[in-house]
Amino acid sequence: MQNTDEIWRLVDARQDDFIALSDRVWGMPELCYSEFRSCAEHTAMLEAQGFRVSRDVAGIPTAVMGESGEGGPVIAILGEYDALPGLSQEAGVAEPRPLPGPGFGHGCGHNLLGSASLLAATAVKDYLAANGIKGRVRYYGCPAEEGGAAKGFMVRAGAFDDVDIAISWHPSSFSGVMEPVSLANTRIDFAFTGRASHAAAAPHLGRSALDAVELMNVGVNYMREHMPSDARVHYAMLDAGGIAPNVVQAFAKVRYLIRARNLPELNRLIGRVKKIAEGAALMTETSVKMQVVSAVSNLLANTPLEKALHDNLSRLGPPPFDDRDRAAAAEFQATLSDEDIEAAYRRAGMPLREGVTLCDTIVPLDAKTAPMMGSTDVGDVSWAVPTVQARGAVYAIGTPGHSWQLTAQGKMPAAHKGLVHVAKVMAGTALDVLHDEVLLARAKADHQARVAKTPYECPIPADVEPPIQMSA
Ligand SMILES: [Zn+2]
Repeated sequence: MQNTDEIWRLVDARQDDFIALSDRVWGMPELCYSEFRSCAEHTAMLEAQGFRVSRDVAGIPTAVMGESGEGGPVIAILGEYDALPGLSQEAGVAEPRPLPGPGFGHGCGHNLLGSASLLAATAVKDYLAANGIKGRVRYYGCPAEEGGAAKGFMVRAGAFDDVDIAISWHPSSFSGVMEPVSLANTRIDFAFTGRASHAAAAPHLGRSALDAVELMNVGVNYMREHMPSDARVHYAMLDAGGIAPNVVQAFAKVRYLIRARNLPELNRLIGRVKKIAEGAALMTETSVKMQVVSAVSNLLANTPLEKALHDNLSRLGPPPFDDRDRAAAAEFQATLSDEDIEAAYRRAGMPLREGVTLCDTIVPLDAKTAPMMGSTDVGDVSWAVPTVQARGAVYAIGTPGHSWQLTAQGKMPAAHKGLVHVAKVMAGTALDVLHDEVLLARAKADHQARVAKTPYECPIPADVEPPIQMSA
């Protein structure tokens, strides 16, 4: 594509402001639906760059959208900026050293994710304006990827209804096209109510909600043997019924996170977990209420867009890491096990290479990647519009997701280079779609064929609102 050089120059010209934005967001880690300062930073940048800004997207106070351009196709570039609990860490230091404060940290690299996407959108905006091309580019600042499924709520509210294609990325050890495979999931709270009683004087009058939770967990753990091998079930105790062992616990609550390859399989598994909850209530003479908190769909592929994104990567080559970056990454690799490093190669479908600390190649489009066993709320966007994601190399090969090592590398020169690199890949792909009607038509036809096979149903029940109170 003859215009990609210009777009890449536009990305380079803007990079400093967006690296600074990423570093600022790294320094204000905020959790699920409470990303007020991070969202304000992104909103301020959208305004400074002259985007038309819509706040409170889908009624979510920490979601924002900025649009530029007129007419033509609508290209959405998705960003995130939420952090994780328990992953606070000093920047650039290759040993665990949490910072004072609430203990949150950017252990999934979403400071980079949001900033690179906004940089890509800004470069496309500048390109459209400079060349008088019809088309609109939008940056969607999406909160609460970690457990809040904000994009699902945004899809349900129609935020992507007039979008033609969506592009995003995720920080990684490697550069390549993100394999469009992830698990659908749902979070359900099971709240058991029994009857309090003196645990010694009148145990026969009490009905323990905590017993019900324990029996439910035992039942689900027996179910594991008999569920699809790529399904996943996890749970966390939200309320164990109090701290007094001499009181029969009248109330207890457990949150289940259930994952499966696709929505029909997920729904079957949810039905079985609910039966186990009802069984636990029956056994303990308690009652149970079930409340869905959030849910996401699995990712849907889009072959033409994946090819277009990969072509951009191939033309651009790997990120321009230098010897100093590689030496710094080696210090982080020294904190990892051989298994961590082998697993990273296996996930990317790449042959293991000893002594390579940072990605120096592009993962081939046909690499035999290990399917992602996690979930992403990009899944729901991918059912609504043709969607493609890059994986962008920003940290030492083998760095586990959600780790202090990942937080520590979020402001390193290598991370900054990876941010700029993946912004170029996304901006180049957006331009391909804006310039090539045939590519756009093929992407849409591919999407329609997939959705026709299994029509999209939002996995979030109609009466469930975005769990904004999670921020409390
Ligand atoms: Zn993430």
